Amino acid sequence: MSLAEEILLQLPGDVLGELRRADRVLASLKEGKLAVPTVVKQSQENLGALDWDVLICGGTLGIFVGCALALQGVRVALIERGILRGRKQEWNVSRRELQVFVKLGLLTDAELEKAIATVYNPVRIGFHNGVEIWVQDVLNIGVDPVYLLETLKQRFVAAGGKLLENTPFVEVVVHPDGVIVNNQYKAKLLIDAMGHLSAIARQARQGQKPDALCMVVGSCAQGFPENRTGDLLFSFTPIQNQCQYFWEAFPARDGRTTYMFTYTDAQPQRLGLEALFEDYLHLMPAYQGVELNQLKFQRPLFGFFPSYRQSPLQTPWNRILAVGDSSGNQSPLSFGGFGAMLRHLQRLSKGIYEALQTNQLSAKALAVLQPYQPSLSVTWLFQKAMSVSMEQKIPPDQINQLLSAVFTQMQQLGEPVLKPFLQDVIQFPALTQTLLKTSLAHPGIIAKIIPQVGLPALLDWMVHYVNLGTYSLLFQFSQILQPWEKNLPTTYQYYWHRWIDAWKYGSGNDYSDNC
Ligand SMILES: Cc1cc2nc3c(=O)[nH]c(=O)nc-3n(C[C@H](O)[C@H](O)[C@H](O)COP(=O)(O)OP(=O)(O)OC[C@H]3O[C@@H](n4cnc5c(N)ncnc54)[C@H](O)[C@@H]3O)c2cc1C
Repeated sequence: MSLAEEILLQLPGDVLGELRRADRVLASLKEGKLAVPTVVKQSQENLGALDWDVLICGGTLGIFVGCALALQGVRVALIERGILRGRKQEWNVSRRELQVFVKLGLLTDAELEKAIATVYNPVRIGFHNGVEIWVQDVLNIGVDPVYLLETLKQRFVAAGGKLLENTPFVEVVVHPDGVIVNNQYKAKLLIDAMGHLSAIARQARQGQKPDALCMVVGSCAQGFPENRTGDLLFSFTPIQNQCQYFWEAFPARDGRTTYMFTYTDAQPQRLGLEALFEDYLHLMPAYQGVELNQLKFQRPLFGFFPSYRQSPLQTPWNRILAVGDSSGNQSPLSFGGFGAMLRHLQRLSKGIYEALQTNQLSAKALAVLQPYQPSLSVTWLFQKAMSVSMEQKIPPDQINQLLSAVFTQMQQLGEPVLKPFLQDVIQFPALTQTLLKTSLAHPGIIAKIIPQVGLPALLDWMVHYVNLGTYSLLFQFSQILQPWEKNLPTTYQYYWHRWIDAWKYGSGNDYSDNC
């Protein structure tokens, strides 16, 4: 019996079965065998009277958008295939990202404090035989999803939202004047918040294989030595199984959470979640200084995050917008979809409201709500530099050496450079300074990276890097033009606001909003 089987079979529920089911889906995804669904159809007939302005499908992050819209007076219904409740495991974010809940009226100050289950400091970034850096107040808050979703659910209903649980989305027909879901619910706009395996997103991507994967395994367990600090990005091993393993660890309400994650491509021969879980269990004692038999496991944690270069997803249909994981609006380095939603919630809720007010619900008009963001696209090169392809032979410590060199320079440049990067926000000045400083201090390491990532990836990256700089300038320029925007017709105002958002978020200039 493997270690993974031994540990997982002791836990309540069929967790081993769940892990294996997730592995089968992952295998189908890697083999390109996930069926392409036909859940979106189109009709030229008008629908007539509509029940709702917006119908949201999928409740986990969908309720965030639903609540923000309902509070603005939008008529919203939300369908969820099961019962809408948060998972037991906390979501980790930085405190500044949470302020949006209060700003938009989704939570009171007191409710926000109650939603915060854990706070810890400092957090560590460290690499095998390399640098170790400690920072304060970055991703050091654990939010309780159960309380959060329950509170948002109540606020949503109180604001006039209609929640339909045990109501799975099956299909949608898009008409010129609205959409009808499951032949029953009629609305002006459908929001797809059904996660990265959403049938709508899969149909939009037409069976395309992901360009990259982030695989995560871990657990929450009791019995660790007392430790109130966290790890944000830590590695203590060289490359193995053509993977560089990274770790996260932090105090949780009912124990200590440890994650092991790795970035790969989507080749079928890549190891699956169960094999990764086995490595996790073998390595964890050395990582945390405990024997497995000292631990009382509360729950296993696992997941995979497919990333597509063509992200965020712009659906080809009128009246359908993807949000949350289905939209892929986070970098391929991040598995923080909750944090990404918080970062974009104000932008999305304002934009959707304006789209409804001005009736801009065509595929083209909705595409600008999920625009190209160079700040996301530049991270593809970092993903490549932190992963190894199946056939590549590189020195076992190359990734550790590179990261150690880069983070040393970022630390010297100070927190304004380091902190946004750790929160998945890339800004042109910070990136430029880091690259210049690292190239001067460690030319040998940078030279080694070029064959690892390949010239096409590097050239592609340069385009996004130039765009990142251009977006920064355009955003600054747009601020000067702000006073004139009220002279624009409302249709143009809608597009103008979306462009400003695209330049702002696409250049990481939204970071200062919540400081
Ligand atoms: C191990 C692990 C750790 C994580 N840790 C963090 C973290 O610390 N911080 C952070 O920011 N993020 C974290 N994440 C990511 C975060 O959990 C996800 O980004 C987030 O859950 C995505 O929400 P979503 O609503 O977009 O998709 P999902 O979570 O996939 O939810 C989809 C929702 O749609 C519903 N649904 C699906 N199909 C249908 C259907 N046919 N009809 C109706 N409803 C449907 C589902 O029931 C569900 O409610 C972690 C994820 C994992 C796996």
